[in-house]
Amino acid sequence: MIRKLAIIGVGLIGGSMARALREEGVVQEIVGCGRSKPNLERAVELGVIDHYTHDIGEAVRGADLIVLAVPLGAMEATFRAMQDHLADDAVITDVGSVKGSVVEDAVKVFGEAPAFLVPGHPIAGTERSGVEASFPELFRNRRVILTPLDNTDPQALQKVEQAWRHCGADLSYMAVAHHDEVLAATSHLPHMLAYSLVDSLARMKENDEIFRYAAGGFRDFTRIASSNPVMWRDICLANREALGGMLKRFADELHGMADALEKDDAEGLLEIFERAKAARDRYIDGVE
Ligand code: NAP
Repeated sequence: MIRKLAIIGVGLIGGSMARALREEGVVQEIVGCGRSKPNLERAVELGVIDHYTHDIGEAVRGADLIVLAVPLGAMEATFRAMQDHLADDAVITDVGSVKGSVVEDAVKVFGEAPAFLVPGHPIAGTERSGVEASFPELFRNRRVILTPLDNTDPQALQKVEQAWRHCGADLSYMAVAHHDEVLAATSHLPHMLAYSLVDSLARMKENDEIFRYAAGGFRDFTRIASSNPVMWRDICLANREALGGMLKRFADELHGMADALEKDDAEGLLEIFERAKAARDRYIDGVE
């Protein structure tokens, strides 16, 4: 049983976690914290949280589980605002899409990674944001990656594991740096590509016509370019090292494609397309 759950950032992810834990009946009190009054009032109206405050220190007072669900750029300030107000048995977890930067932010504030911090990342989401977009089934049968550190308190880890299991999630474990490399490839690079494709087309003359005739393939490929720009700016900057490497690699691939076109290299192109189709059919369609 969670005595007091503090959700810092009552948006898609924080709101969905609160809803899921509420539905399971495993939490006595849920306090929400954020900047926007209308979003927090709506969260109370929807029954996602019991009450709210704009003061992080007040939100975490007496809380035994604190979930940081703000954009990555706000993590350090959030740790700083709560550090003098934590209960003795407080456990903090976060849902940030990059883990190295969250651990670095915690070290900047606490001097070392606190034993009561369990970094985590749900591999679930939509391109929508805010509490209106949240729903309790978001994490059901979805993977949540936890990246505990060498000094993480096993009881803190257990508390966070239990919370995620109540949300219906499947847990995986990774080292922090490995998580950031894997997610650079599978999530952060695709978002960069979707944003840059839509932006480069939008800046072309005649873009009205381009978008008017855009069909299913374009919609599928670019859906994620409708995601929250502030959140994705923060994610890309927070994972700049791993993502920068992936982008360079991908730029080489694109140059290879351009060369193949220029040289009318039908065999080269077909080889790439067949290899990609086989990989996608095997790994993506095979697991969904
Ligand atoms: P969201 O719906 O925009 O919610 C973020 C919440 O944080 C908002 O309710 C916002 O409320 C609050 N917030 C924003 N900026 C803040 C700031 N500077 N200081 C304090 N609070 C702030 O975003 P989300 O999709 O839930 O993402 C939250 C976290 O989950 C991010 O770290 C993201 O990396 C991670 N994540 C997202 C997804 C996804 O697909 N969306 C998936 C996995 C993980 P106010 O504006 O009222 O302050």
